[in-house]
Amino acid sequence: MAKPGKSAEKSATLAGDKRPFTEGEQLLYASFEHSPIPTFVIGRDHKIIYWNRALEKMSGITAREVVGSKDHWKAFYREYRPTMADLIVNERQGDIPLWYLGKYKKSHLIEDAYEGTDFFPELGGGGKWLRFTVSALRDSAGAILGAVETLEDVTDRKLAEDALRESETMYRALSITDALTTLYNSRYFYDQLRLEIERADRYGHPLSLLLLDIDNFKKFNDSYGHLEGDVVLVRLGEVIRRCLRKTDSAYRFGGEEFTVIMPETTGDAATSLAERIREEYEHEGFYPLGGGEAIYETVSIGVAQYIFQEELKMFLKRSDSNMYEAKRQGKNRVFYRKK
Ligand code: GH3
Ligand code: MG
Ligand code: MG
Repeated sequence: MAKPGKSAEKSATLAGDKRPFTEGEQLLYASFEHSPIPTFVIGRDHKIIYWNRALEKMSGITAREVVGSKDHWKAFYREYRPTMADLIVNERQGDIPLWYLGKYKKSHLIEDAYEGTDFFPELGGGGKWLRFTVSALRDSAGAILGAVETLEDVTDRKLAEDALRESETMYRALSITDALTTLYNSRYFYDQLRLEIERADRYGHPLSLLLLDIDNFKKFNDSYGHLEGDVVLVRLGEVIRRCLRKTDSAYRFGGEEFTVIMPETTGDAATSLAERIREEYEHEGFYPLGGGEAIYETVSIGVAQYIFQEELKMFLKRSDSNMYEAKRQGKNRVFYRKK
């Protein structure tokens, strides 16, 4: 079977057997030889009996070079290690996980057969993903004769899957992100607030909420235009982000209103953090087109601490009322009413 090339099919012989093929053997041989699936067969002694043309193409190793040797591993690895076919021939199925942990499963179609997928860094400059199947070959009494292994380059499919997964992750990130400020959006705010309320109820830990609203923003928009107004929104997002601790999360709630969820935080602690945001923001200078001197914007912030088993709506409403109280008292301030 070791003779590739034009005349091979007519005059093929089994390795080590000079007898010409019978018609049945020839048919079997031709089906392997013309299969587009790279395939090799090893015997009980691990020597290669068969190496088809598709595998010659894939590996760059000809049948002539390897049939009769035990060099099939060279098609896949830089240094010697057993292939799945070797483990099957040794009837050491228990050793498969040592070499292929998490990368293979038993075939559900055929007894004594395995299939898997792995990355082969040595192949094709930059590596290839191969899907492989291995089946034991047995005589009529069940004794092992060898193993047949097929290989399939699934690199393109794998890369397409990775790209899809990446775009799904990206889509998910976009679906919870406010495009202008890149803070989370209001949809995600409700999801997270619901979760944090559940946790606060379960563990009895404090939970606080900030509601921020830019002061006299309509006037800024009217004077300098919507685009310059957007800069003011983006900057508030940056200031908030800068002041947050690891466990806090910030959201653009809508228009010129922002929220911050602060788990494990009392209203008093949240008030200090809100005060820092307020103060940093008031020192941010804006230079809108046609504005000349720096222009300063301010923000009013309402703080609320969650009350055990309070409704989400009620909790949010209290932070909103406190924000309005900050406005009423003259804006550019933080208001926290314990209740
Ligand atoms: P107050 O101090 O009481 O909060 O007054 P205000 O002018 O900030 O409040 P008002 O609710 O009257 O105006 C809010 C303005 O926010 C009106 C709207 O044009 C502006 N706005 C909302 N969303 C955006 C946005 O995405 N970009 C810009 N540039 N402006 C926005
Ligand atoms: Mg508003
Ligand atoms: Mg406002």
